[in-house]
Amino acid sequence: MRKSMGRIIAIANQKGGVGKTTTAINLSACLAEAEKRVLTIDMDPQGNTTSGLGIDKNNCENTIYQLILGECSFDEALIHTEFEYLDLIPSNVNLAGAEIELLNIENREYVLHNEIEKIKDNYDFIIIDCPPSLNMLTVNAMTTASTVLVPIQCEYYALEGLSQLMYTINLVQERLNPSLHMEGVVFTMYDARTNLSLQVVENVKENLDTTIYKTIIPRNVRLAEAPSHGKPINIYDSKSTGAESYRLLAQEVIDREDD
Ligand code: ADP
Ligand code: MG
Repeated sequence: MRKSMGRIIAIANQKGGVGKTTTAINLSACLAEAEKRVLTIDMDPQGNTTSGLGIDKNNCENTIYQLILGECSFDEALIHTEFEYLDLIPSNVNLAGAEIELLNIENREYVLHNEIEKIKDNYDFIIIDCPPSLNMLTVNAMTTASTVLVPIQCEYYALEGLSQLMYTINLVQERLNPSLHMEGVVFTMYDARTNLSLQVVENVKENLDTTIYKTIIPRNVRLAEAPSHGKPINIYDSKSTGAESYRLLAQEVIDREDD
């Protein structure tokens, strides 16, 4: 049985533009809305999760970069966002250099894990937004996580790269983090007006042997607008279909603890 306390979910898919960051921001915010204590970790040098939660990424003295290279403490990198129950470890373009710098560090697969281990009991959920590649940052997210949540965009090439992703998750599980599991798949940017979206969902269900979240995130322009206002969808437009679907996803994630 997986417990709600201290569940750590890495949101990963090496494809860009599939909804990782949108899911990291809004799943985090909707879990926080349900009064779960949430820590969101931005592991992408693009820093879009950071700015999407209203934080000026270029004005952060300490980020995930300093934290994993041992140049600051967890508390020095931690930001309490303006949203209740929601903390953030920010990121910005500096993180792009970490890949190389980690090469010189012992146990480089575990630098994030070792930092998060100390504080994970302070949170009900820790959500990690991964970069769009299967690099050392993603490996660090997976050695820290208890589960991997994979967003899949409802478009023609949805299955592309998924076998490589599953292979990587299995490899990390075998060699680095035996307790790692698949959280499941969540479909994003579903367009009810096209047959294609439906076909993609059917196709993935047939080809992928993993949990599939019942909640499907629709294409909703409010989800695309919210980040430029520095607000998650439940605050930016609380009644939008985007907000309602991420609330349902959060509830499904919470209910999973009894699986
Ligand atoms: P990733 O982090 O995987 O690269 P993003 O979450 O940044 O993907 O999403 C890529 C783009 O698609 C962004 O511009 C985002 O605003 C937009 N987007 C994501 N999900 C949705 C959605 N459900 N409806 C509309 N636009 C979306
Ligand atoms: Mg992203």
